[in-house]
Amino acid sequence: MSGYHKRDWETFPMHKIKRVDRPTTLINANEVQRVREREAGFCKAAAGDYGPVLQREFRRFVPKHPLSRAASWMSNAMRSLVDGMVAAQKAPIPTDPAALSRHIKETAYFLRADAVGICELPGYAVYSHKFDFRNPDADEIPIELNHKYAIGILIDQDYRTSSAFAGSDWISNAMSMVSYATSGFIAIILAYYIRRLGYPAKAHYAPFYDINVPPVLLLAGLGEMSRIGDSVLHPFLGPRFKAAVVTTDLPLLPDKPVDFGLQDFCSKCKKCARECPSGAISDGGKVMFNGYEKWPVNVKKCTGMRVGNQRGSGCGTCIKVCPWNKPYTPFHRAVGWAVRHSGIARSLAMWGDDLLGYGKPDDSKKWWYDLEDVAGDGILQIPGNKKSEFEER
Ligand code: SF4
Ligand code: SF4
Repeated sequence: MSGYHKRDWETFPMHKIKRVDRPTTLINANEVQRVREREAGFCKAAAGDYGPVLQREFRRFVPKHPLSRAASWMSNAMRSLVDGMVAAQKAPIPTDPAALSRHIKETAYFLRADAVGICELPGYAVYSHKFDFRNPDADEIPIELNHKYAIGILIDQDYRTSSAFAGSDWISNAMSMVSYATSGFIAIILAYYIRRLGYPAKAHYAPFYDINVPPVLLLAGLGEMSRIGDSVLHPFLGPRFKAAVVTTDLPLLPDKPVDFGLQDFCSKCKKCARECPSGAISDGGKVMFNGYEKWPVNVKKCTGMRVGNQRGSGCGTCIKVCPWNKPYTPFHRAVGWAVRHSGIARSLAMWGDDLLGYGKPDDSKKWWYDLEDVAGDGILQIPGNKKSEFEER
């Protein structure tokens, strides 16, 4: 959890962020095709599309560190709780969408969410078919999901840990998995609560999403599209979060997308492209892909690094080095304000980020043990310095 103890009703002052009618990257809704979940890089690795080595590594790349193993075990254990019966009677609560939205957001913050946003669920964001990671050869199951609204829930991956790790060492997957499990825990309780209020609701969290999450986060005003491929970047958390979503028919008031100058920042910064160990992130311009305007990313290279990493568990180097990955302190809030309002401040921030050594691991903050669960039966070893065959540099 974030530990931002002095929150008002929201954790972060999102009312200070400029709202716009459309996301700052084009979504051509007429062109976007629903995609099968199997098109995602992790699904392709699990199915063997990237070869037998990555298919084998896929089965152990999360559980090979005991902490990420524990967190993903919890995610799996909650899987059957994402949906359920709706109460026969609607609860005697207000029906005003604005009041209900405020209530649902406060509920999510009470459940320890770090950021919450609401949008109408675009039909194109729903996967066409579900993929079963545990049985990649099984028939893909068509998905029907007609809920009207989506509630995006973000969980901070922890700034202290992110300043200690190098980007692709042994804590990386645990940072992801703990945040996924936490976001799932919140989404499951929130969806259950909404169903008890008399409205359908379903929780979606990793790896049990029925939806492609980035367009939901964009439309819900939780960030802008960044250079890190399909990643949305939040104005106060940067890319340092994982997301869950609750879809529902509870009448809600959608938020508007945000504009905090990220398109200009990412077009010049390129630090993630420079530091990505697999060379997956482009330092070029944006492209249109399936109706979305975005920076291209080589999904095969990124998946190869995260799944095939032999010197750690996963990879989050792009999250680690991004200048927007900062703590919520008065100094960084002031810098953030300047960066949001001035092109000169953006240039200075990029230059100063390297100069001040941000993005380098701070060993004094390292708290975890480097352990590798080699056989999956509790036999742990301190890992050797094996080089990933998927690293370019
Ligand atoms: S390989 Fe690592 S740094 Fe590169 S895009 Fe993937 S997660 Fe980010
Ligand atoms: S490192 Fe720079 S270019 Fe990459 S996502 Fe962050 S701000 Fe954008």
